[in-house]
Amino acid sequence: MARYANVIVDISMEKLDKTFQYRIPEELKGVLAVGMQVVVPFGNGARTLTGYVVELTDVCEFDPLRTKEIKEISKKGVSLEGQMISLAQWMRGTYGATMNQALKTVLPVRKKVQEKTRKRLVRTISLEEAQTYLKLFEQKHQTARLRLLAALMDTPQLDYRLAAEQLHLTAPTIKKLEEMGILKVETETMFRNPVKRSELCPHPFDLTQQQQEIVDDIQKRLAEGDKRPSLIHGVTGSGKTAVYLELIGKVLEQGREAIVLIPEIALTFQTALRFYKRFGDQVSIINSRLSAGERYDQFERAKRGEVKVMIGPRSALFTPFRNLGMIVIDEEHEASYKSETAPRYHARETAVERARMADAIVVLGSATPSVESYDNAQNGTYCLYKLKQRIFGQTLPSVEIVDLRQELKEGNRSILSRKLRQLMEERLNKGQQIMLFLNRRGYAGFVSCRACGHVLKCPHCDVSLSLHTGGRMICHYCGYEEQAEKACPSCGSPYIGAFRAGTQQVAEVVQREFPKARVLRMDMDTTKNKDGHEKILEAFSEGRADVLVGTQMIVKGHDFPAVTLVGVLAADLSLYTSDYRASERTFQLLTQSAGRAGRGREEGTAVIQTYSPGHYSIETAAAQDYELFFEKELAYRRLMEYPPTAYLLAVYLSHGEKEALEERAGSLKEILGKLAGEKAVQIIGPADAYVAKVKDIYRKVVYLKGRELKELTKLKGELEAVVQQREELQQLNIQFDMNPMNGF
Ligand code: ADP
Ligand code: ZN
Ligand code: ZN
Repeated sequence: MARYANVIVDISMEKLDKTFQYRIPEELKGVLAVGMQVVVPFGNGARTLTGYVVELTDVCEFDPLRTKEIKEISKKGVSLEGQMISLAQWMRGTYGATMNQALKTVLPVRKKVQEKTRKRLVRTISLEEAQTYLKLFEQKHQTARLRLLAALMDTPQLDYRLAAEQLHLTAPTIKKLEEMGILKVETETMFRNPVKRSELCPHPFDLTQQQQEIVDDIQKRLAEGDKRPSLIHGVTGSGKTAVYLELIGKVLEQGREAIVLIPEIALTFQTALRFYKRFGDQVSIINSRLSAGERYDQFERAKRGEVKVMIGPRSALFTPFRNLGMIVIDEEHEASYKSETAPRYHARETAVERARMADAIVVLGSATPSVESYDNAQNGTYCLYKLKQRIFGQTLPSVEIVDLRQELKEGNRSILSRKLRQLMEERLNKGQQIMLFLNRRGYAGFVSCRACGHVLKCPHCDVSLSLHTGGRMICHYCGYEEQAEKACPSCGSPYIGAFRAGTQQVAEVVQREFPKARVLRMDMDTTKNKDGHEKILEAFSEGRADVLVGTQMIVKGHDFPAVTLVGVLAADLSLYTSDYRASERTFQLLTQSAGRAGRGREEGTAVIQTYSPGHYSIETAAAQDYELFFEKELAYRRLMEYPPTAYLLAVYLSHGEKEALEERAGSLKEILGKLAGEKAVQIIGPADAYVAKVKDIYRKVVYLKGRELKELTKLKGELEAVVQQREELQQLNIQFDMNPMNGF
C-alpha cells in the first residue's frame, strides 16, 4: 500500500510538475485515491492549503523525516478537477506516459508568457467613407495610414502580422485607425457564430422515422440505466448529424452539457452553422489553429457554464464541463483521434472512460466504422444503429474496378486506364467535374509485380515489406529482411518494383491528354501556405477547374455537387502500406472517395484502378458492402492476432548512436522476455521504425502482443520500473503506443 502521495496545490499554475510530497496517515492508507482533494500543511506554521492527489507512490523523494503528513480528505467532495486528474491517471496507465504529460493533456494551464495570438484587421466603414479618409490622409501626407487604408479598401480583412510586416506599419498607426473607427482588431477564431438571435432555427425539419427511432431508443436505454456507447453506422448524408443535434437538445434540457468531436478536416462551415442555428451562443468551436491561450479561454467559459456545447477535434474531449451529459464522436474511424505525442491516447477510448466517470453517454458515428468499434457493436459492448439511406434519396455512385494488369498486358502503360480516360472525356464534354485521387498516405515503397499483382510480404507478419536503400526489403514489425528480386517470384515477369507516381506527374499526364481541361492539384506541396488548402477547394467548388488531382486530402470535408466522376488511380498504394490496418484504411478511403461522386442531381461513377482486383477490401468497397468487409477483415485480424482480437503495444526506442541503440534494443527485448515469463505475451522485433532515422536520431520498435490488456499494461509498468534502475537504458528514449495507428 502506497505510503506517499504527490499533491499539486495550484492547477492554474504554469508548472503542473510542481508537486509536493506528503506522507499518507495510517487511517487514509488504502482510502486515498488519485484525483481526491486533500488538505495539506504548507510552508511554516499552521497554514494549510487544498490540493489534489496526482500520484500514490512508495518512493520517498525527499527526507522521510521531514516529509509532512496529509491532514485530511477535503470535505468539498469530488470536483471536476479531481475527475480530470483521475482521467489522466487512467490515460497514463493505459497508454504509458509520465503523470506530468498526462496532466498537461487533460488540464490546459494558462501560459504565463504572453502568446502571439493571431489577430486580424477588419474594415468597419463603407468604401465611400473610406474614400473620404483616403483623401484626408493624402493631403496630410500620412503615408503609413494611407497604405493601410488602401489595403483595407482592397481587402476588407487583413492578417494583423502580415499587414504590419508587408505594409511596414507600426502598432500606433494601427491603433490610430482603430480609434478613428476605420477598423477594428479581431482575434481570429474559426467559424465564429454568425447567427443572430432572430435567425435561430432549432427545428428546420422533422426527423425521419429511422432517425426518430434511434433517438427514442437511446433515450429509452438511458432511462433504463443502459450506459453502453451507441454506434450509428450510416453513409454520409444519411442524417447522423441531425440525430446528434436532437440528442444534444435533450441533454441540454436536462441542464447538462455536450462535447462533439469532429475531425478538423471534416468540420465544414455548413456543419458549424447547423449547430449555431440550433443552439446559438451556447456553442463554442475550437480548432488546432487557436492559440493555447484562446483555447484556455474557451475552456474557462465552459467551466463557468457560458458554453454548453463544445465542438472540436481530439483535444475538445477535455473541455471542463461540470455536468457533462454526452460525448459525440463523428467519423469515429479517423486516425486523427489518436494522439501522436505521449500520452498517445485514443479519443474514443478516452471518451468512453470520461463518460463513465461523469455518468454521461457516448454516441459514435461513421460511414465506415473502425474495426474496433464494429467489433464492439457485434459483441454487445456498444449498441449498433443503422441509417441505410441518404436523406434526399440520392443513389450511391456506381463503382467500377479496372484491372491494371490487364491494361499492361494490352499495351497501355499510362496511369490512366482506357476506361477512366473514356469516362473523363465524356464528363469533360458535358462540362462536369472530375476528381482524381492518389492515396499515398503512409505509402512505404512496397514492391509489387505489375504483370500479376503479386506483392512481396513478410512471411511472419503478413504485411508488405518496404523497400529501402540498397534494395533491402524490410518488415517493420519483426525486422525480417531480404534482398529485392529482379524478377517476380510468382510469375517471373521483370515488371517488378516499387510504385512511383506523384500527384504532380498525374496532373501533367492529364494536362497532356486533355489539353483544354483546367487542372488543379492539391497535395502537401500546393497547400503549404496558410489557407492554401481552402483556396484550392474553393476554386474547384466554384467551377474554376474541371479536374482536381490530389492525395487523400481531397476526400474529406467539402461537397462538390458537380463532380460526377471519381478516379482512384492506384488503390494498391494504401493497401500495401506496411501495417496491419492497411486493408481497413483502404476500404475507408475507397468508400469515401467513391462517395464524392454524385452528391448532386447527376448520378456519379467511381473508377478504382488496381493491380489487386480480387482483394477483399477492394471488392467489398466497390460493392459498398461494409458488413462483408468487416467479416473478412476480422478473420484476418483473428488469424494474425492483431487488434481488436488482441492488443498490440509498441515500444518506440530512439538513440543518437546506431550501435548503442541496437545493443540496448536487444537488452530491452531480453528484459521483456524475462518479465513476460509465463504470461501469454509475444515479443516481436526489434525492427527499424517506419522512419528509421529522424534528425540523426535512430529509431527502433519492439512490439508486445497479447490477448489481455491487463497483462500488457502490467508488463509496461514493470518495464518502466526496470528502466529506472538501469543507467544504460535511461539514455534510451522510450515511448509507448497502445494499438498504434499512425506508426513511428
Ligand atoms: P450525416 O451527418 O449522416 O452526413 P446529415 O444529418 O448532415 O447527415 O444530413 C444530410 C442532409 O440531410 C443535411 O443537409 C440535413 O440538413 C438533411 N436532413 C437530415 N435529416 C433530415 C430530415 N429528417 N428531414 C430533412 N432533411 C434532413
Ligand atoms: Zn508477377
Ligand atoms: Zn515480419
